[in-house]
Amino acid sequence: MTHDLIIVGGGPAGLALAAALADTALRIAIVERQPLETLIEPAVDGREIALTHRSVRALQTLGAWGWIDPRQVSPLREARVLNGGSPFALSFGADGSGEDRLGCLVSNHRIRRALFAACEAQGNLEILAGQAVSALGTDRERAEVELADGTRLTGRLLVGADSRFSFVREELGIGAQVNRTGRAMMVCRMAHDLDHEGVATEWFDHGQTIAMLPLGGRESSAVLTLAAPEIERLAALDADRLAAEITRRYEGRLGRMSLIGKAHVYPLATTYARHFAARRAALIGDAAVGMHPVTAHGFNLGLASACTLGRLMAEAHRGGRSDAIASSLLLRRYEAAHRLASRPIYTATNMIVGLYTAERPAARAARHLGLRAAARIPLLSRNVSRMLMQT
Ligand SMILES: Cc1cc2nc3c(=O)[nH]c(=O)nc-3n(C[C@H](O)[C@H](O)[C@H](O)COP(=O)(O)OP(=O)(O)OC[C@H]3O[C@@H](n4cnc5c(N)ncnc54)[C@H](O)[C@@H]3O)c2cc1C
Repeated sequence: MTHDLIIVGGGPAGLALAAALADTALRIAIVERQPLETLIEPAVDGREIALTHRSVRALQTLGAWGWIDPRQVSPLREARVLNGGSPFALSFGADGSGEDRLGCLVSNHRIRRALFAACEAQGNLEILAGQAVSALGTDRERAEVELADGTRLTGRLLVGADSRFSFVREELGIGAQVNRTGRAMMVCRMAHDLDHEGVATEWFDHGQTIAMLPLGGRESSAVLTLAAPEIERLAALDADRLAAEITRRYEGRLGRMSLIGKAHVYPLATTYARHFAARRAALIGDAAVGMHPVTAHGFNLGLASACTLGRLMAEAHRGGRSDAIASSLLLRRYEAAHRLASRPIYTATNMIVGLYTAERPAARAARHLGLRAAARIPLLSRNVSRMLMQT
């Protein structure tokens, strides 16, 4: 065997799994198709990740949190959900567990950089950057991966951390529920006249969904979801016209806005793998569960999957038998734990999206009444806060 563990994908999930195994003697390889310079200094990608308290603790344990400048961490005090033209807002604050905030926001490229910095010098890790995987397979004895340049790696366990349209998942023959919505998201950083007070808003308006995430000072990340061609049209506007368009679509709630940097566009598709494990193989991060971003849990779940698998592998390895990291019992335990962690929030998120984006008049009326009723049930909002915070 060239390695014990081969991870395909050096995104946040793949790097987190490697970091979780830093204290073991396992020989680990990460194969990442992006060049090394991009891993060391990832480009701004527009994503602002809402981290739960649990994720912050996990990043601390992995040694990544210390690489994030505290001035670049924005507190998230409250989340408000708005429905169409109704002045009524459903609001979620800290759940009374002693925390003063729901969570915090950190840019995705900073998290990626911090995770890379945490494991860059790890003695048991080899990072093969600028290399795409072209073929792979597993049998009873081992997992095998072939790189585009013809290099072959063999290991005891193969992990797919290669995003929602995972090549590893496909090659292993694992099916997935895939929902290509035909919609796309545009994310852009905006400066504005008024204070956001640490409040995130998710506004499900007729025909558009617009979220505003509070960053440092008078800046927010705007996340606009529309039909894909309309998003492409907006993304092609110059900075002033785009800023005027976002100000108009947000009805001037934060005053006049101006664009910082450039807009980034992402197609909106959700995926859920039918299995998270196969013979000598496992899926983590978006390769396992590709969430709708509306409840801001994709990264959080991906990190949780890496930590769960990493913990099980470290325990098995400490037990002595090196092949135990790929045992079917371990992989079944990982699959069961991650399904339990992900299925409820995946289903709830899709229900929320369905409820809020249905445009028929009857659906709108039901939504309006449902939201008002929900606001009168304190236990409900406390439970939602708890789900969002994961203290
Ligand atoms: C606009 C937007 C906003 C979001 N906001 C939030 C949020 O607020 N909170 C939250 O929790 N989540 C959020 N998410 C989700 C979060 O960004 C993802 O869940 C997370 O980045 C997934 O990490 P990953 O490591 O699984 O995959 P990725 O980040 O996609 O990384 C996969 C890596 O695998 C590499 N790769 C792919 N194929 C191959 C191959 N064949 N060979 C070698 N390498 C390969 C890729 O180059 C990439 O580096 C958001 C997503 C979007 C689009």
